[in-house]
Amino acid sequence: MRFTVWGSRGSHPTTLTPAAIQSKIATVVQRIRPVDLESPTSRERFLASLPDWLFGTTSGNTSCVQLELDRGRQLVFDAGSGIIEFGKSQLRSDPPPQEYHVFFTHFHYDHLQGLPFFGQAYNPNITIHFYSPLEGLREKLSGHMNHPYFPITMEEKMSPRLHFHTLGPEGVEIYGARILWRELNHPGRAFGYRVEYGGKAFGYITDVELQERDFEKTAENGRFFQGLDVMILDAQYTLDEAIDKYNWGHSSFSLGVDFAVSWQTERLFLFHHEPFYDDRKLEHNLRAARRYAQGTDGGKLQVYLAREGITVDV
Ligand SMILES: [Zn+2]
Ligand SMILES: [Zn+2]
Repeated sequence: MRFTVWGSRGSHPTTLTPAAIQSKIATVVQRIRPVDLESPTSRERFLASLPDWLFGTTSGNTSCVQLELDRGRQLVFDAGSGIIEFGKSQLRSDPPPQEYHVFFTHFHYDHLQGLPFFGQAYNPNITIHFYSPLEGLREKLSGHMNHPYFPITMEEKMSPRLHFHTLGPEGVEIYGARILWRELNHPGRAFGYRVEYGGKAFGYITDVELQERDFEKTAENGRFFQGLDVMILDAQYTLDEAIDKYNWGHSSFSLGVDFAVSWQTERLFLFHHEPFYDDRKLEHNLRAARRYAQGTDGGKLQVYLAREGITVDV
């Protein structure tokens, strides 16, 4: 398995403002020394030496993660604005896939707003399966594509090959992968997913305000949280902010590290980034999370930012 992050911003999309881009360019220019410009190799070396927060951006699009099981066999989690770029990327694959499986954590705008612009949904030759543990999925999806909020409706223009599935307690098996779900602590209900395939386990766990019961070593918790090779986790806040925003439905990165360590996760990807945090702040949080992980379990847990555009083997 391998996953690609198409959107990891929480709550609403963020764009780099003109001032933010100017500031990045100005900072890079100040760092250049004459020796960095001497040859193509030295220029490459200079660019490679720049920190991630400066040479790029963490993510502007909201939640969407693609999980490829094998070539041409894939699952998609959430349809935030990231699914628009995902859709474009699919046009470049040869041959373009004719079938998609899209799982929804919940229906807050930041997990849904890309769907009206997901080109594949308008292609009558493409089959799309949508999944949620909640009943009434078709109504939930079509209800937000309606006059006066959107010029066309799902029924009028989208592919007749859309299928809507309510997940039962046992989850579902697709392409030989087992997909389990679990309800998370989030206003209005949200659901996390665990995918097991080829001896590996992948977790997509957002949006969630972690609580004590998520740490309890029950059989049910263990079946879902234990031993993930990759855990993508809502870690929107710093600890201070999480205390201020108690009951908002998101977690701090430090609690996320505690949680990942307690369930023996291999690699943790911090996800659902707070829209008011800029790239530098997110990098700072990552360093703090790594220091905290080092102190918590001696650094066995590897911690990363879920950056838009990364593709990672599970
Ligand atoms: Zn969200
Ligand atoms: Zn939400």
